[in-house]
Amino acid sequence: MESIGVEGEYEKLKAIFLPFITPSHLVPVVDIARIFAMHGVDVTIITTPANAAVFQSSVDRDASRRRSIRTHLVKLPHVPGLPEGVETINATTSKDIGGKLYEALNKTIQTQFQQLLHQYKPDFLVSDMFYTWSVDAAAEFGIPRLIYVGGTYFAHCAMDSLERFEPHKKVESDDESFLIPGLPYNMEMTRSQIPARFKKPDDPFSYLMKMVKESEKRSYGSLFKSFYAFEGAYEELYRKIMGTKSWNVGPISSWVNQDASDKGSRGHGKEVEEGREKVGWLAWLNSKQKGSVVYVCFGSMNNFSATQITEIAHGLEDCGHDFIWVVRKIDEDESRALVEEFEKRVEASKKGYLIWGWAPQLLILEHPAIGGVVTHCGMNTVIETVDAGLPMVTWPLFAEQFFNERLLVDVLKIAVPVGAKEWKSWSEFGNEIVEREKIAKAISLLMGGGEECEEVRRRVKALSDVAKKAIKIGGSSYNSLKDVIQEMKSLKLEKLKKPVS
Ligand code: UDP
Repeated sequence: MESIGVEGEYEKLKAIFLPFITPSHLVPVVDIARIFAMHGVDVTIITTPANAAVFQSSVDRDASRRRSIRTHLVKLPHVPGLPEGVETINATTSKDIGGKLYEALNKTIQTQFQQLLHQYKPDFLVSDMFYTWSVDAAAEFGIPRLIYVGGTYFAHCAMDSLERFEPHKKVESDDESFLIPGLPYNMEMTRSQIPARFKKPDDPFSYLMKMVKESEKRSYGSLFKSFYAFEGAYEELYRKIMGTKSWNVGPISSWVNQDASDKGSRGHGKEVEEGREKVGWLAWLNSKQKGSVVYVCFGSMNNFSATQITEIAHGLEDCGHDFIWVVRKIDEDESRALVEEFEKRVEASKKGYLIWGWAPQLLILEHPAIGGVVTHCGMNTVIETVDAGLPMVTWPLFAEQFFNERLLVDVLKIAVPVGAKEWKSWSEFGNEIVEREKIAKAISLLMGGGEECEEVRRRVKALSDVAKKAIKIGGSSYNSLKDVIQEMKSLKLEKLKKPVS
């Protein structure tokens, strides 16, 4: 890979990356940091020890590949009410603990940040959206701040339209559909599908998201994991709305994780293939026919009730196709017993395989036996699945996932909806139960081989081919990465040329 670093060490472009502490923000921001290092930028990632443990093996491998990359650890102080060693917000974190952790993290990093800037002397900062204060810290130090906001351009444009025109306030009930104006396509949603913050403007999270947007507008530009062919029209609209620049660096996961060790350990610290999982999922998939297995995973933050878990289990058993189901840690005895019983049954019949906890998703998606994916429409999984050329059953749950579903189902036509109707917070079960019949029907449609499904497959395969080209030399995301590095380099040179006053 060509290095874009400038001539001497003195002139080497340096960056600080500030990832957030939820898996789905941490993993891609570290991947983005690593892609910059791969292209000659000197990179320092700032995080806490427990979060570093999730990705340090990849950073060490990159360093041994002679890339200029390291982690700077920031230790969180003891905070009353915060359990020792809890440094990550995930599906098992309560809202209360999450809030305390966020506050402690912000305070700790913010107070040390000017000193860190002086220590590492970066030429630019890449900050997760949740560190809103970092836009001022970068300005004070005289460097550009790039923001990582996550999600699709498509969802950002739709959410901006909701804020601007408030169409959801003009309908009489939660299930009456309304048009989201100002988009290149006529998107219809219902009030029950949009995030709660649009309905509760005084909620602390709504306030935080306003601050995020304000800091996004004041940033030099945004980094997205997208690629042009995926949602180009919305990329252009996003730039108009925000009045800033943006660059695509996707699909990031296959770009930066090119060998099996990187893929296997991503987001987990150690290779998940070790131990039971190695002999388990891989041997199981190897025994299956090409394209015959559906992979079912709801990301890193999902929470399902015992009733919903029962419906998923029955839906999978009834769909008539083999499956791998990634099951998060289940605390409730009732649900756990049910799933363990189900696991014994489907493993005996060889119809299904369960992975508990964290799955090596990148390795699974590229296995030839996988023929489709049931996803909650988290942006990372969506791009990884498109990259792998696999069609999807969409089952959005929280965050911006209902908008992503519309992009996949209506605009790109590469997915079949399960028919979810209710947005819920990641930390709650919600009221909606998607029944087994709906689950089985959507999977049967996706995997059944009918004409409609073949069309979906052809389209996603074509998009996957374009995605793979996007990160090759001369591809759209490759050029976009070169552009942003070149722009950061030009800003640095301009600064160096300025007479010191
Ligand atoms: N992931 C994984 N194994 C798992 C669950 C998730 O490797 O068992 C990765 C997945 O590849 C993706 C990220 O974690 O990169 C999840 O992000 P996404 O945006 O899809 O969902 P979220 O976790 O935000 O709900």
